[in-house]
Amino acid sequence: AAKGERRGTCRGFEAGMDAAAQEKNRLEKDLRAAVRQGSLEVHYQPIVDLQTGAVECYEALLRWNHPERGAVPPDVFVPLAEEMGLIDPIGRFVLGSACAEAMRWPAHVRVAVNVSPLQFRNGNLLSTVINALSTSGLAAERLELEITEAVLMEKGPRPAAIIRNLRAFGIGISLDDFGTGYSSLSYLLNYPFTKIKIDKSFILNLHQEASSRAVIRAVIGLGRSLGLTVTAEGIEHEIDRDYLREEGCTQGQGYLFGHAEPPLAIAAAQCRAA
Ligand code: C2E
Ligand code: MG
Ligand code: MG
Ligand code: MG
Repeated sequence: AAKGERRGTCRGFEAGMDAAAQEKNRLEKDLRAAVRQGSLEVHYQPIVDLQTGAVECYEALLRWNHPERGAVPPDVFVPLAEEMGLIDPIGRFVLGSACAEAMRWPAHVRVAVNVSPLQFRNGNLLSTVINALSTSGLAAERLELEITEAVLMEKGPRPAAIIRNLRAFGIGISLDDFGTGYSSLSYLLNYPFTKIKIDKSFILNLHQEASSRAVIRAVIGLGRSLGLTVTAEGIEHEIDRDYLREEGCTQGQGYLFGHAEPPLAIAAAQCRAA
């Protein structure tokens, strides 16, 4: 009986694993098909000058509209793509799309593209970026790459060398999600960053958490003293925008200014504004 019970338990456990693994398998299969069929999309969210409200940049954000599940968030499918070895082709697609799209905007408006740590490891990031620029004709100064600390924790000199090369071309380098990782000050001193993006978790609870306000003030001060642009993401309320503006934060991004929208909507808005 004991043996039977154990087998039963074991079978139940395996069945549970199977369900989760099957689910993941299906999502992977669908993601592979989406990449092959070109059904991933890039949307663009405005980043504004906090003093004037003028749009200075758009962040390119991947969107996957699954035929049955609807929108699958990038926080779900980007890690999956990394695991499946699909992040290089996806990264090339985002860079190519973003540079081409920015060519339709006024020349003072930049485009920001997120780059995965894995693109520093196995991909040929530098040539991918140069290729996207030369194919589109976009000036390097109009492109910003957003990286997280995970990139800097990669072993060896490769990330550092690639970042310096990219910067030497005139491409902007932003430290994304600042405040959530180790936020090591040595990173800020040892890499040629042009921008710090304060993670949205600090902005979303700015009014409840005095500690968030302290972090925000410190990061703005740090950024200013290093001559960097400081961007706050996740601004949803006017009161938060006003606070950040008074504290001297350079740029803002968030639903208050606009959601990520498809390329046509952005081009049309820029056309009207011009
Ligand atoms: P991220 O780079 O930090 O992008 C900002 C995220 O904050 C976006 O989420 C954006 O929609 C969201 N956001 C902006 N304003 C607000 C706001 O006011 N309130 C709230 N609650 N959220 C706001 P999204 O689009 O879901 O992307 C999540 C993450 O997925 C990104 O975080 C980035 O790490 C990753 N990701 C997106 N697109 C790409 C891509 O093309 N390549 C790579 N490697 N990663 C990407
Ligand atoms: Mg980003
Ligand atoms: Mg971020
Ligand atoms: Mg992020």
